[in-house]
Amino acid sequence: MRNQQLKERLQASEAQIVAAGKSYVTAAQATTLHNLEPEDFEVDQVTGSEMVAIYTGRMAKKGAAGRVIYDDLILAAKDGRCPLCGQRPVSTLDHHLPKSLYPALAVDPLNLIPACADCNKLKLDVAPVSPEDETLHPYFDNIEQRSWLHAEVVEVAPAALRFFVRAPSEWDETLAQRARAHFKKFGLAKLYASQAAQEMSNIQYRLAQLYSVNAEGGAQRVQEYLEEEAESRRRAYLNSWQTATYAALANSAWFCSGGFQLQY
Ligand SMILES: [Zn+2]
Repeated sequence: MRNQQLKERLQASEAQIVAAGKSYVTAAQATTLHNLEPEDFEVDQVTGSEMVAIYTGRMAKKGAAGRVIYDDLILAAKDGRCPLCGQRPVSTLDHHLPKSLYPALAVDPLNLIPACADCNKLKLDVAPVSPEDETLHPYFDNIEQRSWLHAEVVEVAPAALRFFVRAPSEWDETLAQRARAHFKKFGLAKLYASQAAQEMSNIQYRLAQLYSVNAEGGAQRVQEYLEEEAESRRRAYLNSWQTATYAALANSAWFCSGGFQLQY
Protein backbone atom coordinates (compact mmCIF):
# COMPACT_ATOMS: atom_id res chain seq x y z
CA MET A 1 0.00 0.00 0.00
CA ARG A 2 1.44 3.36 -1.00
CA ASN A 3 -1.07 5.33 1.06
CA GLN A 4 0.45 5.05 4.55
CA GLN A 5 -2.63 6.27 6.37
CA LEU A 6 -4.91 3.79 4.58
CA LYS A 7 -2.36 1.04 5.16
CA GLU A 8 -2.48 1.67 8.91
CA ARG A 9 -6.29 1.66 8.97
CA LEU A 10 -6.32 -1.57 7.00
CA GLN A 11 -3.78 -3.21 9.30
CA ALA A 12 -5.86 -2.15 12.29
CA SER A 13 -8.85 -3.88 10.65
CA GLU A 14 -7.16 -7.25 10.25
CA ALA A 15 -9.00 -9.01 13.08
CA GLN A 16 -12.35 -7.66 11.89
CA ILE A 17 -11.73 -8.80 8.30
CA VAL A 18 -10.54 -12.25 9.40
CA ALA A 19 -13.62 -12.65 11.63
CA ALA A 20 -15.90 -11.63 8.73
CA GLY A 21 -14.21 -14.25 6.55
CA LYS A 22 -14.83 -16.93 9.18
CA SER A 23 -18.52 -16.16 9.51
CA TYR A 24 -18.80 -16.20 5.71
CA VAL A 25 -17.21 -19.68 5.51
CA THR A 26 -19.45 -21.03 8.28
CA ALA A 27 -22.54 -19.67 6.53
CA ALA A 28 -21.47 -20.91 3.08
CA GLN A 29 -21.01 -24.41 4.49
CA ALA A 30 -24.43 -24.32 6.15
CA THR A 31 -26.28 -22.66 3.22
CA THR A 32 -27.14 -19.70 5.44
CA LEU A 33 -25.43 -16.95 3.44
CA HIS A 34 -28.86 -15.36 2.96
CA ASN A 35 -28.96 -14.75 6.73
CA LEU A 36 -25.81 -12.65 6.74
CA GLU A 37 -26.48 -8.94 7.13
CA PRO A 38 -24.45 -6.78 4.75
CA GLU A 39 -23.95 -4.16 7.51
CA ASP A 40 -22.03 -6.76 9.52
CA PHE A 41 -19.54 -6.89 6.64
CA GLU A 42 -18.61 -3.25 6.73
CA VAL A 43 -15.12 -2.47 7.97
CA ASP A 44 -15.09 0.14 10.75
CA GLN A 45 -11.92 1.95 9.76
CA VAL A 46 -11.96 1.46 5.97
CA THR A 47 -14.88 2.55 3.77
CA GLY A 48 -16.65 0.21 1.36
CA SER A 49 -15.33 2.07 -1.66
CA GLU A 50 -11.80 1.92 -0.24
CA MET A 51 -12.11 -1.86 0.17
CA VAL A 52 -13.34 -2.18 -3.42
CA ALA A 53 -10.43 0.02 -4.58
CA ILE A 54 -7.97 -2.17 -2.64
CA TYR A 55 -9.28 -5.22 -4.51
CA THR A 56 -9.29 -3.50 -7.90
CA GLY A 57 -6.02 -1.60 -7.57
CA ARG A 58 -3.90 -3.78 -5.31
CA MET A 59 -5.07 -7.29 -6.18
CA ALA A 60 -6.80 -7.51 -9.57
CA LYS A 61 -4.52 -5.03 -11.33
CA LYS A 62 -1.62 -6.51 -13.29
CA GLY A 63 1.67 -5.92 -11.50
CA ALA A 64 0.01 -5.08 -8.14
CA ALA A 65 1.42 -6.67 -4.98
CA GLY A 66 -1.66 -8.85 -4.42
CA ARG A 67 -1.88 -10.00 -8.04
CA VAL A 68 -0.01 -13.22 -7.23
CA ILE A 69 -3.00 -14.37 -5.15
CA TYR A 70 -5.39 -13.32 -7.90
CA ASP A 71 -3.39 -15.35 -10.45
CA ASP A 72 -3.29 -18.41 -8.17
CA LEU A 73 -7.07 -18.32 -7.84
CA ILE A 74 -7.51 -18.01 -11.62
CA LEU A 75 -5.19 -20.99 -12.16
CA ALA A 76 -7.07 -23.12 -9.62
CA ALA A 77 -9.91 -23.76 -12.09
CA LYS A 78 -9.71 -27.24 -13.56
CA ASP A 79 -8.57 -27.12 -17.20
CA GLY A 80 -8.99 -23.34 -17.09
CA ARG A 81 -12.78 -23.73 -17.35
CA CYS A 82 -15.28 -21.58 -15.48
CA PRO A 83 -16.69 -23.72 -12.62
CA LEU A 84 -20.05 -21.92 -12.80
CA CYS A 85 -20.89 -23.00 -16.36
CA GLY A 86 -18.22 -25.67 -16.89
CA GLN A 87 -17.81 -24.51 -20.46
CA ARG A 88 -16.25 -21.12 -21.12
CA PRO A 89 -12.65 -20.25 -20.20
CA VAL A 90 -11.91 -18.44 -16.95
CA SER A 91 -11.15 -14.77 -17.49
CA THR A 92 -11.90 -13.10 -14.18
CA LEU A 93 -12.66 -13.61 -10.48
CA ASP A 94 -16.25 -13.42 -9.30
CA HIS A 95 -17.08 -12.23 -5.78
CA HIS A 96 -19.49 -14.90 -4.52
CA LEU A 97 -20.95 -12.30 -2.15
CA PRO A 98 -20.62 -8.98 -3.98
CA LYS A 99 -17.86 -6.67 -2.79
CA SER A 100 -20.15 -3.65 -3.07
CA LEU A 101 -22.47 -5.13 -0.40
CA TYR A 102 -19.95 -7.09 1.72
CA PRO A 103 -16.77 -4.97 1.67
CA ALA A 104 -15.05 -7.05 4.37
CA LEU A 105 -15.02 -9.94 1.88
CA ALA A 106 -13.64 -7.88 -1.04
CA VAL A 107 -10.19 -9.50 -0.89
CA ASP A 108 -11.07 -12.78 0.87
CA PRO A 109 -9.74 -15.60 -1.36
CA LEU A 110 -12.62 -17.90 -0.34
CA ASN A 111 -15.07 -15.32 -1.64
CA LEU A 112 -13.25 -15.13 -4.98
CA ILE A 113 -14.25 -17.70 -7.57
CA PRO A 114 -12.63 -18.07 -10.99
CA ALA A 115 -15.29 -17.37 -13.62
CA CYS A 116 -15.86 -16.56 -17.26
CA ALA A 117 -16.92 -13.04 -18.20
CA ASP A 118 -20.47 -14.16 -19.09
CA CYS A 119 -21.16 -15.90 -15.77
CA ASN A 120 -19.58 -13.00 -13.90
CA LYS A 121 -21.99 -10.61 -15.64
CA LEU A 122 -25.04 -12.87 -15.20
CA LYS A 123 -24.46 -13.21 -11.48
CA LEU A 124 -25.20 -9.51 -10.74
CA ASP A 125 -24.34 -7.73 -7.49
CA VAL A 126 -27.20 -9.04 -5.40
CA ALA A 127 -27.38 -10.64 -1.97
CA PRO A 128 -29.09 -14.05 -1.72
CA VAL A 129 -32.45 -13.75 0.06
CA SER A 130 -33.25 -17.45 0.60
CA PRO A 131 -31.32 -20.77 0.70
CA GLU A 132 -32.59 -21.63 -2.81
CA ASP A 133 -31.23 -18.30 -3.98
CA GLU A 134 -27.62 -19.27 -3.18
CA THR A 135 -25.86 -20.24 -6.39
CA LEU A 136 -23.67 -23.32 -6.18
CA HIS A 137 -20.31 -22.60 -4.56
CA PRO A 138 -17.40 -24.48 -6.15
CA TYR A 139 -15.40 -24.43 -2.88
CA PHE A 140 -18.13 -25.56 -0.50
CA ASP A 141 -20.72 -27.52 -2.48
CA ASN A 142 -19.32 -30.92 -3.24
CA ILE A 143 -21.71 -32.00 -5.95
CA GLU A 144 -19.43 -33.76 -8.39
CA GLN A 145 -19.63 -37.20 -6.76
CA ARG A 146 -23.08 -37.91 -8.15
CA SER A 147 -24.63 -37.55 -11.55
CA TRP A 148 -27.06 -34.62 -11.70
CA LEU A 149 -26.77 -33.15 -15.20
CA HIS A 150 -28.88 -35.01 -17.75
CA ALA A 151 -30.28 -34.52 -21.23
CA GLU A 152 -32.96 -36.02 -23.40
CA VAL A 153 -33.24 -36.20 -27.16
CA VAL A 154 -35.92 -34.06 -28.77
CA GLU A 155 -37.09 -35.99 -31.80
CA VAL A 156 -37.08 -33.23 -34.39
CA ALA A 157 -35.11 -32.64 -37.59
CA PRO A 158 -32.28 -32.12 -36.89
CA ALA A 159 -32.19 -33.88 -33.51
CA ALA A 160 -31.85 -31.56 -30.52
CA LEU A 161 -31.08 -32.04 -26.84
CA ARG A 162 -32.87 -30.68 -23.80
CA PHE A 163 -30.69 -30.42 -20.68
CA PHE A 164 -31.99 -30.49 -17.12
CA VAL A 165 -31.00 -31.10 -13.50
CA ARG A 166 -32.13 -34.34 -11.91
CA ALA A 167 -31.15 -34.32 -8.25
CA PRO A 168 -29.61 -37.53 -6.86
CA SER A 169 -31.69 -39.11 -4.09
CA GLU A 170 -29.14 -38.22 -1.38
CA TRP A 171 -29.44 -34.50 -2.05
CA ASP A 172 -31.79 -32.54 0.19
CA GLU A 173 -34.52 -30.45 -1.42
CA THR A 174 -32.63 -27.19 -0.84
CA LEU A 175 -29.58 -28.38 -2.73
CA ALA A 176 -31.82 -29.63 -5.54
CA GLN A 177 -33.55 -26.24 -5.75
CA ARG A 178 -30.21 -24.43 -5.67
CA ALA A 179 -28.86 -26.56 -8.51
CA ARG A 180 -31.95 -25.84 -10.61
CA ALA A 181 -31.75 -22.12 -9.80
CA HIS A 182 -28.04 -22.11 -10.67
CA PHE A 183 -28.83 -23.85 -13.96
CA LYS A 184 -31.44 -21.23 -14.78
CA LYS A 185 -29.46 -18.18 -13.66
CA PHE A 186 -26.47 -19.04 -15.83
CA GLY A 187 -28.58 -20.07 -18.86
CA LEU A 188 -26.96 -23.50 -18.97
CA ALA A 189 -29.75 -25.32 -20.85
CA LYS A 190 -29.32 -23.00 -23.80
CA LEU A 191 -25.52 -22.98 -23.64
CA TYR A 192 -25.31 -26.78 -23.53
CA ALA A 193 -27.99 -27.32 -26.21
CA SER A 194 -25.96 -25.20 -28.61
CA GLN A 195 -22.73 -27.05 -27.78
CA ALA A 196 -24.50 -30.38 -28.21
CA ALA A 197 -25.96 -29.35 -31.56
CA GLN A 198 -22.47 -28.68 -32.85
CA GLU A 199 -21.21 -31.98 -31.43
CA MET A 200 -23.99 -33.89 -33.19
CA SER A 201 -23.03 -32.27 -36.49
CA ASN A 202 -19.41 -33.21 -35.88
CA ILE A 203 -20.14 -36.91 -35.33
CA GLN A 204 -22.85 -37.33 -37.96
CA TYR A 205 -20.50 -38.71 -40.62
CA ARG A 206 -19.00 -41.19 -38.14
CA LEU A 207 -22.44 -42.39 -37.09
CA ALA A 208 -23.55 -42.76 -40.70
CA GLN A 209 -20.48 -44.92 -41.39
CA LEU A 210 -21.26 -47.18 -38.43
CA TYR A 211 -24.91 -47.36 -39.38
CA SER A 212 -24.31 -48.42 -42.97
CA VAL A 213 -21.40 -50.89 -42.75
CA ASN A 214 -23.86 -53.78 -43.12
CA ALA A 215 -27.59 -53.65 -43.53
CA GLU A 216 -28.12 -55.43 -40.20
CA GLY A 217 -27.28 -54.09 -36.75
CA GLY A 218 -26.52 -50.51 -37.73
CA ALA A 219 -28.53 -49.01 -34.86
CA GLN A 220 -26.77 -51.26 -32.39
CA ARG A 221 -23.32 -50.26 -33.63
CA VAL A 222 -24.28 -46.61 -33.32
CA GLN A 223 -25.65 -47.20 -29.83
CA GLU A 224 -22.51 -49.05 -28.68
CA TYR A 225 -20.25 -46.36 -30.09
CA LEU A 226 -22.22 -43.60 -28.33
CA GLU A 227 -22.24 -45.50 -25.04
CA GLU A 228 -18.48 -45.98 -25.18
CA GLU A 229 -17.99 -42.29 -25.88
CA ALA A 230 -20.31 -41.48 -22.97
CA GLU A 231 -18.28 -43.70 -20.64
CA SER A 232 -15.04 -42.06 -21.70
CA ARG A 233 -16.45 -38.60 -20.94
CA ARG A 234 -18.10 -39.81 -17.71
CA ARG A 235 -14.68 -40.84 -16.41
CA ALA A 236 -13.31 -37.38 -17.10
CA TYR A 237 -16.30 -35.27 -15.96
CA LEU A 238 -19.36 -36.89 -14.48
CA ASN A 239 -21.52 -33.80 -14.98
CA SER A 240 -20.37 -32.25 -18.23
CA TRP A 241 -22.67 -31.45 -21.15
CA GLN A 242 -20.53 -33.89 -23.14
CA THR A 243 -21.27 -36.79 -20.78
CA ALA A 244 -24.97 -35.93 -20.67
CA THR A 245 -25.05 -35.59 -24.46
CA TYR A 246 -23.52 -38.96 -25.27
CA ALA A 247 -25.55 -40.73 -22.59
CA ALA A 248 -28.78 -39.22 -23.94
CA LEU A 249 -27.93 -40.07 -27.55
CA ALA A 250 -27.00 -43.65 -26.63
CA ASN A 251 -30.30 -43.97 -24.75
CA SER A 252 -32.41 -42.85 -27.68
CA ALA A 253 -33.46 -45.73 -29.95
CA TRP A 254 -34.94 -43.11 -32.27
CA PHE A 255 -31.59 -41.31 -32.61
CA CYS A 256 -29.53 -44.51 -33.02
CA SER A 257 -31.82 -45.93 -35.68
CA GLY A 258 -31.45 -43.02 -38.05
CA GLY A 259 -32.66 -39.95 -36.13
CA PHE A 260 -29.09 -38.66 -36.28
CA GLN A 261 -29.34 -38.36 -40.08
CA LEU A 262 -32.34 -36.04 -40.20
CA GLN A 263 -31.62 -32.60 -41.61
CA TYR A 264 -33.59 -29.39 -41.79
ZN1 LIG B 1 -18.97 -19.50 -16.88
